Amino acid sequence: MKIELQKISAEGLSRRGEAAPDFIGLEEESVSFSHPVLYELELRRAGKLVVARGVLSTWVGLTCSRCLKKFDYEVQIPDFKTQVTVEDPAGLIDLTEAVREYIILALPYKPLCDGKCAGICPTCGKNLNEGPCDCPEIEKESSWDKLSEIFPEK
Ligand SMILES: [Zn+2]
Ligand SMILES: [Zn+2]
Repeated sequence: MKIELQKISAEGLSRRGEAAPDFIGLEEESVSFSHPVLYELELRRAGKLVVARGVLSTWVGLTCSRCLKKFDYEVQIPDFKTQVTVEDPAGLIDLTEAVREYIILALPYKPLCDGKCAGICPTCGKNLNEGPCDCPEIEKESSWDKLSEIFPEK
């Protein structure tokens, strides 16, 4: 995500393309970046200041916080905007850090494979999206029974 300053003319510069996702590199096992980041940017410069704005999109591999299944999450950033000051007229504008931040901030705090994800059974660990497990309902009731033994109703 580096652009040569000299390429930005008085009318600005439009750039579209894709960047390999390795630069995002997050030390987080539950998140994986394996799809390219698509970008469509407009760059304008005023002296040393360059303003870049546009749209970004990619797919990020996340882990469902309820059932622990891995799934691809679509990230769409319609309002990417950043500004960089470039001292060297022959220098490069590096948008890597700004793009990285926008993508990471767009990720959900509690990812869900589906809003209706049923999660996993706390007793047997079965993924309840694949169907109900064989755990007896009674178990839950018996824990209530134990509670009433401890706190008998008068
Ligand atoms: Zn899930
Ligand atoms: Zn179960």
